[in-house]
Amino acid sequence: MKAAVFKEIGKPLVIEDVKDPQINQGEILLKVLATGLCHGDLHIIFGDWQTDIDVRTPMILGHEIVGEVMNDGKKVKKGDIVLVYNAFGCNKCKYCKKGYPQYCENVKILGVQENGGFAEYVKVSSEENLVKAHGNPIELAPLADAGLTAYSSVKDIEEGSNVALLGTGAVSMIALQILKSKNVRTTVVGRNYFKLSKMLELGADKAIIVKNSYSDDLSSKIGREKFDYIIDYVGSNDTLKDVLWMLDRMGELRIVGEFGGEFTVPEQLMVLRGLGIRGFLYGTKKDLEELLNIFYEKKIKTLAVPYKLYEINNAINDLLSERIIGRAVIIP
Ligand SMILES: [Zn+2]
Ligand SMILES: [Zn+2]
Repeated sequence: MKAAVFKEIGKPLVIEDVKDPQINQGEILLKVLATGLCHGDLHIIFGDWQTDIDVRTPMILGHEIVGEVMNDGKKVKKGDIVLVYNAFGCNKCKYCKKGYPQYCENVKILGVQENGGFAEYVKVSSEENLVKAHGNPIELAPLADAGLTAYSSVKDIEEGSNVALLGTGAVSMIALQILKSKNVRTTVVGRNYFKLSKMLELGADKAIIVKNSYSDDLSSKIGREKFDYIIDYVGSNDTLKDVLWMLDRMGELRIVGEFGGEFTVPEQLMVLRGLGIRGFLYGTKKDLEELLNIFYEKKIKTLAVPYKLYEINNAINDLLSERIIGRAVIIP
């Protein structure tokens, strides 16, 4: 089969013929229909991960996968269209038992520790991780990671809250739409004029373009306004700096992006205003099922931008140079 193989840090992926995945008893073979390109893939390609993630080479990346089932399982049948819930946990630890395999110490992710979706076929070790879906696979693909992460980061935010979203990537764009469907006031903050315009079109109440630093530009534009939640979909030194000062009493900073930023925490401000800080990684399988329903109700668009597998390095360059408004989706 054709696949885009990650061979060396910092180098383009190599499109080549590789052996088809061989499945054993209990495993499912998927014909890949579409796989989203995530900033996480770029972090792997450029060797950015500082903690917890170790990627072997050669590896087929691509963790946001929609496929067609090629062999009957117990719950899925040949021909079913499925999204991959891409956190394969040990099923024994406390995180797995609570339904949060993404935090399992032995978690496996297709496209990170095992071969993923930038190929014609992918092997799935457990059908428990497949969620049946219907519709256009290109539009479905971003739900499997960007959409799920967006949903888990905002699902419990109450109607009437005032929320700032930092960053204008696909996760932020989908989160915005979920918040708008719940009547939440939103301010989006980013550096890219075109992406901010798109977010206004998607219903953002206010867009703030960053020219200097996130905190300076945000604080100068909002005056005395404070947020119940600030959700950082970037996670850089720049987005995190001084951000806690813009939270209202009992407000929460949610960190989703993984650009490796660090920041100092004004301890007394935290205590006196009762602030919280929380990280969000991916979501649960139940979240993915709930998200699919929101998608079927047409409350969100996934903003897929399709590329062919042989164009994947162009997609990577376009993502790097901020030319993609929405989610690049790779079609084998
Ligand atoms: Zn991802
Ligand atoms: Zn586990």
